Amino acid sequence: MVGAHKIGSLLFCPRCGTLLDLPKDGEIEVVCEQCAHVEPASSYENTEITTRSDPDAFPSALRQKRKTQTKTHEGGYQGTLVNEKCPSCGALEAYSTEKQLRSADEGSTIFYTCVACDYGWRLNN
Ligand SMILES: [Zn+2]
Ligand SMILES: [Zn+2]
Repeated sequence: MVGAHKIGSLLFCPRCGTLLDLPKDGEIEVVCEQCAHVEPASSYENTEITTRSDPDAFPSALRQKRKTQTKTHEGGYQGTLVNEKCPSCGALEAYSTEKQLRSADEGSTIFYTCVACDYGWRLNN
């Protein structure tokens, strides 16, 4: 992929996904704060808004931006919070996710992750 992503009037760094600053008056290029990538300011003018048809572009670019900036683990979907005792530390809450690992008539496996110590275990149905 060559050139920056453009979303509306926003540009994201093609190397690290960081939101680039708008070029100031008279500036011919924009430098990425994160990785020092240099993007020509003309990218802002030449590109039309063509990303409307791709609803995923904006949120994923934002996610990427957050990741490069904060390094906090976002985790996404961790599962349903249930009252289940952790075999490792004895905490009484865990996240549970159910996965169909085998064929449908063989039941499924429930995975638990302790909210306190991150210990993971499973339960076969
Ligand atoms: Zn960058
Ligand atoms: Zn635990």
